[in-house]
Amino acid sequence: MTRPILPEHGGKTRPTPTRPPRAPPARTAIDAPTSPARRPIALATLRAQAAHCRECPLGALATQTVWGEGAGHARLMIVGEQPGDREDLIGRPFVGPAGHLLDKALAALGWDRDAIYLTNAVKHFKHELRGKRRMHKTPGQLEILACAHWLQGEIDAVGPAALVALGGTAARSLMGRPVKVLSERGQWLQRPDGRRVLVTLHPSALLRGDPAGREREFERWVSDLALAGDVLQPH
Ligand code: SF4
Repeated sequence: MTRPILPEHGGKTRPTPTRPPRAPPARTAIDAPTSPARRPIALATLRAQAAHCRECPLGALATQTVWGEGAGHARLMIVGEQPGDREDLIGRPFVGPAGHLLDKALAALGWDRDAIYLTNAVKHFKHELRGKRRMHKTPGQLEILACAHWLQGEIDAVGPAALVALGGTAARSLMGRPVKVLSERGQWLQRPDGRRVLVTLHPSALLRGDPAGREREFERWVSDLALAGDVLQPH
């Protein structure tokens, strides 16, 4: 894995900050619930701030920040890993092949995509060039940590009753610890703030799987997601 280069803290070599004011320093999703109470920052404000983020090296390598989208006060938030190639170019989450598979699952469940808030744990596309192709690279722990306060800002602003973590990166960011997705999929975990997190696979994992078993795996994945159906029901 490429070792990320994070900004230095303290000392004479620290660069002069040029970015606009940033969100409160909720550095990890796991420590945020124990932080002093603070007023959520509006999604539009966070989005504008994140557009200039260079808190890890990924910001300089991608086309743009891909911010979350959906209902501003959604009861359910679905969190993926990071934008893919298409999301990076278009600037919206879940619009590439993995997003199409998610849309197919939402249709199978009868869920309205616009009623959910969709986002990623990491807001910039990590990749490496192979010829002219930009190949996905999994974000590192430090990149996940650097980006966690943006995700926490979205959680604070939207206030979902529960979240779905698609894949290990999302689960790690939301829980503040490594999560074994294959053994913990289909289970509700609980964050210190009391919010429940349903863990399952990222749709790209299904796309990479054996084509012969893809339909069976899709149905199992939809069954995982269906466990969050009660969250969408008005109470
Ligand atoms: S990936 Fe996250 S922390 Fe890194 S530059 Fe982008 S928005 Fe900032």
